[in-house]
Amino acid sequence: MTRELHELAGPSLASTLTADSIIVLPTGSIEHHGPHLPLATDLILADLMSSKIVDAAVATGLDVWRLAPLAYTKSDEHHWAPGTMWVSWDTLMRTLVDLGRSVANTPARTLVFYNGHGGNTALLMVALRELHIQFGLRTFLMNAGMPAGDGVNGPDERGFGIHGGHGETSMVMALRPELVNLSLASRAVPDQIADFEHVKFNGGSVAFGWQSDDFGPSGVIGDPTEASAAWGLHLVAASTAQGVAELAEIARFNK
Ligand SMILES: [Zn+2]
Repeated sequence: MTRELHELAGPSLASTLTADSIIVLPTGSIEHHGPHLPLATDLILADLMSSKIVDAAVATGLDVWRLAPLAYTKSDEHHWAPGTMWVSWDTLMRTLVDLGRSVANTPARTLVFYNGHGGNTALLMVALRELHIQFGLRTFLMNAGMPAGDGVNGPDERGFGIHGGHGETSMVMALRPELVNLSLASRAVPDQIADFEHVKFNGGSVAFGWQSDDFGPSGVIGDPTEASAAWGLHLVAASTAQGVAELAEIARFNK
């Protein structure tokens, strides 16, 4: 039986889902990822990884369903690059609220965003609370993030590797190799800010506003030059196992 929610007929959905059902909504993006990766990189990762995770979670007995992915999201940090197809923060916020309202009109009470684009994270966090308060949904955010190269596994990306870098490029090489042209890849690690102790992209005590060409003309933030399908396959397997474990914990949270 399909686990793609949108492939069910409406009455079948209403009789099949229960209050324990979990609905996963993948969020991707269509945005510049440098010369070596397709614009749809984040969409491909969110779509294919969420599909693998949902299938594997269902095989363990979890009641999980997947919605069609949201392709166009908040990619304004790449607004300068031709091919980036983005919506503004308030458009995405209203879309998430509207989709949450629609999910609340099913028997399911749990909505999980599976996010492939880091630029959406802050807004998705706001949406988690908004949908919880407005519609009584249990809301969660899972991230398709992958580790930066650390000099052992891949080149040392100095904690960056957040956009078009080693991990992401490797995963696309594993999943859609025909879309990657590694001969066009080059290192674009922002060494000028790597030694800052407080002001950081993620996890520092001081955050900052940025767009991707602040750090170099390629718009890449990371080092994809040593990416490989073999490392990508390792990350795909690890991310799938991690995703199943996360869904299992979500299923027993708040019970
Ligand atoms: Zn990406």
